[in-house]
Amino acid sequence: MGLLDRGVEIKTPAQIDAMRRAGLVVGRTLELLRGSVRPGISTGELDAIAEDHIRSSGATPSFQGYHGFPASICASVNDEVVHGIPGGRVLAEGDVVSLDCGAIVPDDSGRGWHGDAAVTVAVGAVPEEVTELIRVTEEAMWRGIAAARLGGRVTDISHAVESFVRGQGRYGILEDYTGHGIGSAMHQPPNVPNHGRPGRGPRLVEGLALAVEPMVTLGTKDVSVLEDDWTVVTDDGSWAAHVEHTFTLTPTGTWVLTALDGGEERLAAMGVPFGGR
Ligand code: MG
Ligand code: MG
Repeated sequence: MGLLDRGVEIKTPAQIDAMRRAGLVVGRTLELLRGSVRPGISTGELDAIAEDHIRSSGATPSFQGYHGFPASICASVNDEVVHGIPGGRVLAEGDVVSLDCGAIVPDDSGRGWHGDAAVTVAVGAVPEEVTELIRVTEEAMWRGIAAARLGGRVTDISHAVESFVRGQGRYGILEDYTGHGIGSAMHQPPNVPNHGRPGRGPRLVEGLALAVEPMVTLGTKDVSVLEDDWTVVTDDGSWAAHVEHTFTLTPTGTWVLTALDGGEERLAAMGVPFGGR
């Protein structure tokens, strides 16, 4: 069972192992989608590929039916930042698309455990500033994960994300949407903001799992929700990137549950001990 400390769900090692299985389903699905993105494919086709892969892996797409969401992935194109609904939109050369995916895998008792991750993919050749936006957003996510240590605080992650982005140029960082705790539900306390001072929020302890997901734009941080009640777009029409991983801390280090290699390579490059098993 998960013990709740101020609403924070603490997982047992066996429960974290189930989250790793969910994370691998998500990670493999996103790699499949990354390889499927090309000019001429629709976001609805990408959604079908994702659902097939998640279900054939013995998992359940967690997004389907989540507060009424009608698909297995979010597909957010250009000035759409997050929560885009897949459908008939056809991707064109020069577009940029965020693909966000979640899956549930049951443990031995039948209880479901979640993985949640996202990638942003360029469709063919994109302007240099878009390539750079994707690079900055990905690196910010890894810096955030790398800043998390047992005994630290949640906003150590927030501070690391913001500091890196600010050092790279003039970007907008969304404040209305955040990362989150994750476990037996997709979204749990605590929120993991992408900006702010370090040393605040719940303490980082073994058994906590967090999704870190910077949302970065080429312009404003201000966003609105379209009339479909889901799609989040920038108010100034600037393009955005959004990437996400689910990770946990073990006694030996950091384990990125939705990365195929557990994050080992990227963590090593930043001098962070790998905590996978
Ligand atoms: Mg997500
Ligand atoms: Mg998330």
